[in-house]
Amino acid sequence: MSVRVRFAPSPTGLLHVGALRMAVFNSLFARRHGGVNILRIEDTDRARYNPDSEAEFVTTLKWAGIEFDEGPHVGGPHGPYRQSERKEAGLYTPHIEKLLESGHAYKAFDTPEELEQMREFQRINKMPTGYRGGDWRDASPEKVAQAEAEGKPYVIRLKIPHGTTIVGHDAIRGRLEWEGDTVDDPVLIKADGMPTYHAAAMLDDHMMGITHVVRGEECISSFPKHIALFNALGWEMPVFVHCPVIVGTDGKKLSKRHGATRVLDYAAQGYLPHSLQNFVALIGWAPGEDREIMTDEELVSTFAIEGIQPSPGKFDIDKL
Ligand code: GLU
Repeated sequence: MSVRVRFAPSPTGLLHVGALRMAVFNSLFARRHGGVNILRIEDTDRARYNPDSEAEFVTTLKWAGIEFDEGPHVGGPHGPYRQSERKEAGLYTPHIEKLLESGHAYKAFDTPEELEQMREFQRINKMPTGYRGGDWRDASPEKVAQAEAEGKPYVIRLKIPHGTTIVGHDAIRGRLEWEGDTVDDPVLIKADGMPTYHAAAMLDDHMMGITHVVRGEECISSFPKHIALFNALGWEMPVFVHCPVIVGTDGKKLSKRHGATRVLDYAAQGYLPHSLQNFVALIGWAPGEDREIMTDEELVSTFAIEGIQPSPGKFDIDKL
């Protein structure tokens, strides 16, 4: 099986060093294994969409020397590569219908006020917040049909299995488990028909034949939902690799205090693209033997998931 990986940014703003590191890890992994590196634009969150962002990503990644074999600007056999266009092409619909038919997803007609009341109730009673069924998870077909006939807006949610343990595997952390009862039923399709990140990212990973999902640790809270979605569709999961966050040398969340966060600022300051690649590749990953200054060929020939550290990677601007 040949390796297929994706870098899947949401075009909401600038390209930061943390995202560049994920792009570098994916690119090195693909090149190490003679695989395919895909750029996918996850633009289904129209409220946070920034029209200038995709151009910033493409320009920055090009400057940084990251090449893609498939993507919106190069094409490829699994296009389109923007999720809004994939939605327009109807690519998600058959899978969502299958989930509804098999009872793994349901239509939920809660109004924003009802959802707020539910959250308030959970807060007051110190319960975990999140949607675990409400009035709609087990609603009768007649009740659903009536709400639809009345033209009430609805979202489609995934029915997270209750009373069982959701089991997943992360290449860095090993086996992970969550009790199904503690995971809320994520929205797959919003009231305007747009898929959410959870639905679009996972359906695309399957449709695009992704073999390894190399992404940031911030996605780990979504991981049980993603596992449940793959299980509901009976699909084999890719290998998931959740890379630890980057922090400053003081152990605090990376911010401007630690150095520029926008990648193009480094370009403007005269840093060379390969130096920056070399630098970000070594944040939280080590090839062993205390090597630090590496050529492109050396990075490619030594990059391995096993070398990614489980603890946060330190961003040390002095080293750069
Ligand atoms: N689009 C997501 C983000 O920019 C990444 C999702 C993923 O890698 O699964 O945070």
